[in-house]
Amino acid sequence: MYADIIVDITHEKLDKIFQYKIPSHLEGELLVGMEVLVPFGKGNRQIKGYVVGMSDYCGYDETKIKPVQDISRNSIAIEGKLVALAAWMKEQYGGTLIQSLKTVLPIKQKENAKLKKRVRLILSKEEGKKKLEFYLDKNQRARARLLAALLDETVLEYELVTKKLNISLATVRSLEEQNILVLETEQVYRNPVKGEKRIGSINFTEEQKHVIDVFWKDYIQEKKGTYLIYGVTGSGKTEVYIEMIRRIISMGKQAIVLIPEIALTYQTVMRFYQNFGDRVSIMNSRLSAGERYDQMMRAKEVKIDVMIGPRSALFTPFPKLGLIVIDEEHEMSYKSEQIPRYHARETAEARASMEGASVILGSATPSLEAMYRARNGKYCLLEMRNRSQMQDMAKVYTIDLREELKEGNRSILSRKLQELMADRLEKKEQIMLFLNRRGYAGFISCRECGHVVKCPHCDVSLSYHRGGKMVCHYCGYEEPKMNLCPKCGSRHVGEFRAGTQQIEEIVKNLFPLARVLRMDMDTTRKKDGHEKILSAFANEEADILVGTQMIVKGHDFPNVTLVGVLAADMSLYSDDYRAGERTFQLLTQAVGRAGRGRKQGEAVIQTYSPEHYGILTAAAQDYDAFYEEEIQYRGLMGYPPVENLLAVLISSEDESHLEKGCRYLKEYAIRVRKSDSMEIIGPAVPGVGKINDVFRKVIYLKAERYDTLIKMKNYLEQYIEVNTGFRKMRIQFDFNPMNIF
Ligand code: ADP
Ligand code: ZN
Ligand code: ZN
Repeated sequence: MYADIIVDITHEKLDKIFQYKIPSHLEGELLVGMEVLVPFGKGNRQIKGYVVGMSDYCGYDETKIKPVQDISRNSIAIEGKLVALAAWMKEQYGGTLIQSLKTVLPIKQKENAKLKKRVRLILSKEEGKKKLEFYLDKNQRARARLLAALLDETVLEYELVTKKLNISLATVRSLEEQNILVLETEQVYRNPVKGEKRIGSINFTEEQKHVIDVFWKDYIQEKKGTYLIYGVTGSGKTEVYIEMIRRIISMGKQAIVLIPEIALTYQTVMRFYQNFGDRVSIMNSRLSAGERYDQMMRAKEVKIDVMIGPRSALFTPFPKLGLIVIDEEHEMSYKSEQIPRYHARETAEARASMEGASVILGSATPSLEAMYRARNGKYCLLEMRNRSQMQDMAKVYTIDLREELKEGNRSILSRKLQELMADRLEKKEQIMLFLNRRGYAGFISCRECGHVVKCPHCDVSLSYHRGGKMVCHYCGYEEPKMNLCPKCGSRHVGEFRAGTQQIEEIVKNLFPLARVLRMDMDTTRKKDGHEKILSAFANEEADILVGTQMIVKGHDFPNVTLVGVLAADMSLYSDDYRAGERTFQLLTQAVGRAGRGRKQGEAVIQTYSPEHYGILTAAAQDYDAFYEEEIQYRGLMGYPPVENLLAVLISSEDESHLEKGCRYLKEYAIRVRKSDSMEIIGPAVPGVGKINDVFRKVIYLKAERYDTLIKMKNYLEQYIEVNTGFRKMRIQFDFNPMNIF
């Protein structure tokens, strides 16, 4: 027997696997994922390695192969566990082992990443201005200059402070001592709120207590598993996570908290800091590779107990992982769009079961996947149906935009919405207007009757393609572009487009005295732009916030009592089987923004299809009704989570080559599949058929069981490897894809 071993994983050089002989005394004992000692290099230096595979054939010169010396006896190292997880990911999602290893292991970059330093103002604007006057009076010029700059921009790069503003470290330090600013390094979020660590615990509601008790009773009996907390917005999920984490830490374990990057705001992070102080660390995309590596090392050395971050924080190398929390579990960003295309939920479960940890999933709108598993007994379902302060959920009005048009209102703002907006401006309460643009892939609809043009075979909407065609991205069906609505004959058919900028203008015209903020890709491009707009709105520096779906996450605005959803249909007819689910989630989250404080909230949902179940159930805030409808549709169509779907993405610069490749792959798949256990669809042209002169196609495989698809993936991978014809193509696997290609 031979072992495939990688060595020296601390560096980027993961690209080589070495084969070693397994000596007879280790046979049967050596397993994939174990840390071993092997001789390496000319002097046969003894180094650490990890077993990533085993085989009974030798790929090299048998006489030159060295034996594994020993298995590391000092308990299984954390890297070994992560290597095992990588092996699982490779099997589950395809791609190479190296790609998986690079995803899970903290990799030390060659160059010494230098620590970025920042200066952050911690005084309020008012206090700051007072202090500034004081410095100016005293003629303390350097201090005044620095403070004035910080009043303009709360966070400044240290480089800029010293070089451009010409301010010495001593000055920075003296302002730091006076609690005017903090000098931050390494961590993005230090704890600037000194002495605000919360003392004592809150009084949990009965529902919250129940959830914590169920989890804890299992946990102390060593019963580990996955729990789905289905809790309405404001039910106190975050408080519950914090309590669970506190308990597992008391048992000497560590916790990972996954939060979608967009919801990883200062406000959220501070709640964890207030509870765990310096024992928390944050990961986000703004950290450099070096900083990220350092955070990982702090976790490995248990200098922290809690790591908060987006998807990639799942691989934090805690040696005694006790709990993984996935907040907003339904979020699309938990699925990786790079190879391996893993889903954080499934991968968290795999890691937890390998390491004896539990998983907590939390959402106000659980994904169909999670709820399906909960209903089938795979997860333990825990519900919190009331807001923690027993505030009522918002009252929702659904407005039919077709009726508005008929009655002569051509504005994007319905009369009801305008009326309520005027009322709130009068009362000095805040308003959020939300334009749902995700999934907008150029779906074709009629402005007059709301009809959406769909594929006759797939129940997804058709999209325009250049060359005057409308195509289905699922099955390749196409028909010529139409000029008249097939339902009502109107000439107003086309792609639906409306931007946040336009809406901002309309609102300003209608309410010239209102202070309006806009949040979208344009206004948040600058660093911290996102955070700045949200905190300005939280400080009530504006009456109305107009934005895309990014405004519905993260922040709690107690003074918002009206939410308007301007065109709820936008995500409904994107050409995707998840469109209904996404619409329901976005609407529910948007409606959940209204009335989080003491005052009752209201929401207006404007739509062309008020009869669609996704909109009806969101307006009624009835998740269960939505779930029932949606799961039936998925079952009927054989879509996940009822069945499983594998997208095989094939791309090549040579179009005819690509076509041939697809044909071969499909024929091979048909040959090796077991009778009717699998449906093979396509090849179809994905949404974008060509990128940078590279042509793309997709074949969909549908099966009841996930492992049927894994077997097929393995067959195809072998087939691709032995046929040189595929070398000129790039082939990727995507299991249960989030997007349709
Ligand atoms: P969710 O994560 O479910 O939206 P949060 O945990 O953010 O809910 O709770 C909403 C608000 O209610 C927060 O400000 C939180 O501190 C507060 N809260 C939650 N539970 C309680 C409680 N039992 N007592 C007092 N305040 C609570
Ligand atoms: Zn029409
Ligand atoms: Zn179709």
